[in-house]
Amino acid sequence: MNLQQLYINGTFIDSKSTETIDVINPATEKVISQIVDATAVETNQAIEAAWHGQKEWEKVPQVERGRIVRQIGDEIAADKERFAKMLSEEQGKPIEEARGEVDQAVDFFYYMSEWNRKIGGEIVPSDDPNEQILIQRKAIGVVAGIIPWNYPVFIFARKVATALITGCSVVIKPSEETPNTAIALSAILDRVGLPKGVYNLVTGKGDTVGNQLSKHPKVAMVSMTGSVAAGTKVMEAAAQNITKVNLELGGKAPIIVSKYADLDLAVKHIKASRIENAGQACISAERVYVQEDVAEAFTQKMIAAMQEVKVGYSLEDNTVEMGPVSSEHHLEKIETLVNEAIKQGAKVETGGTRLNSSGYFYAPTVLTNVRHDFEIMTSEVFGPVLPITTYKHFSEAIDLANDSIYGLASALYSNDYNEIMQASRDLQYGETYVNRDTGEAVQGYHAGMRQSGIGGTDGKNGLGDFLSTHVMYLAYNDAT
Ligand code: NAD
Repeated sequence: MNLQQLYINGTFIDSKSTETIDVINPATEKVISQIVDATAVETNQAIEAAWHGQKEWEKVPQVERGRIVRQIGDEIAADKERFAKMLSEEQGKPIEEARGEVDQAVDFFYYMSEWNRKIGGEIVPSDDPNEQILIQRKAIGVVAGIIPWNYPVFIFARKVATALITGCSVVIKPSEETPNTAIALSAILDRVGLPKGVYNLVTGKGDTVGNQLSKHPKVAMVSMTGSVAAGTKVMEAAAQNITKVNLELGGKAPIIVSKYADLDLAVKHIKASRIENAGQACISAERVYVQEDVAEAFTQKMIAAMQEVKVGYSLEDNTVEMGPVSSEHHLEKIETLVNEAIKQGAKVETGGTRLNSSGYFYAPTVLTNVRHDFEIMTSEVFGPVLPITTYKHFSEAIDLANDSIYGLASALYSNDYNEIMQASRDLQYGETYVNRDTGEAVQGYHAGMRQSGIGGTDGKNGLGDFLSTHVMYLAYNDAT
């Protein structure tokens, strides 16, 4: 497949752009492909195609839309190994995790396909005996789907499956760091029988293609997953046309470990959360508040668990548990945050350095002696670094957890009923994981508070974000 092509109006086309972007394998630092930074004219062509295609697609009965959405899932599943390898190579996650991400994407297409024949509106009572009021739920229109590099296959599924089942058309812009899987997935979208223009893919940078999509008047919604900085720019551009935004942005998930916690369970899940995708997940355990009576025991177990993690390049060694972070600039950001914390007095219990001479590997790290006001406790690290601090009373832990510009995920390890109920009342987060791993369900609703975003994804609420309402007031006379 030619990775320099765009997919517009039902056809792969050669871009006229002369700007190319290297795609780098973060484990080897080798260039594995080159994509184009598409021109504004090409981006506009994709939006126009999507605008026309959507008019046709929304008339296709839901049952048929559901069949096609399911078929996309089937075709991804049939080629799972190829997509997993491509994902591991462009993004760095171990192959087993990459397989898991492809499975999740397939499941997402299947889940959304099952909404066929179920997306309906309401009839509400009128004040007039000779009137019916119908609240119709319709596709919002053209969706621009802007994807980050951390889960490029799963987030592709979230945007595309939700758009297709609701009758929207979509223009996808993958991250310039991990575009290969989205380009390869486009071959499946090409052969499942969608009307022309319903699915389009334009590659390029955020401030070129992403900006063009966000400010175009024919885009009805920009669904973007990424950083707060980029989300702010998307909102600014979308504001020019009062375009709806659906933003899933960063997180700084607090984890509360109570004196009533099963410490081994807590350690197992916090370790998994912190090393999955090398810590580059928006719901990943970013900061721990542990009750002081159990702090020493918990910290010793946590250090031992993080020291056991095998780091490396899983396409060469399949026993590897954690791969590299995504890029050199991301690695530098992690180093800066850790070094600053050390200057402020943090103690490195394990890790705290880069690993290997090539590749963007960072050691699984535990920091103690940190205070809630250190930057390592307030800024998203997005790497395998776990700062731990203590608390005395449970209410204090809740207040510290809530004291963040982010409000996406949080977690609590406790077997005390009152603590769990208090957390359910007082934690100001979009989601809270109690005594389990961090990871959302497709039928849930993944949505953050504060700067973690606007709107959300998954489940019936996520589907609702891709719909608009149209109310029909139907007056009539009694028959004569
Ligand atoms: P990023 O913000 O740099 O890029 C995300 C996407 O936005 C890319 O496709 C990029 O090209 C595009 N973009 C950048 N600038 C843009 C602009 N001016 N206009 C339009 N598009 C623009 O983010 P990233 O570094 O790829 O992803 C990491 C971030 O994503 C983290 O903060 C993480 O927490 C967040 N994230 C959130 C969720 C969630 O569900 N809330 C999921 C995954 C990642």
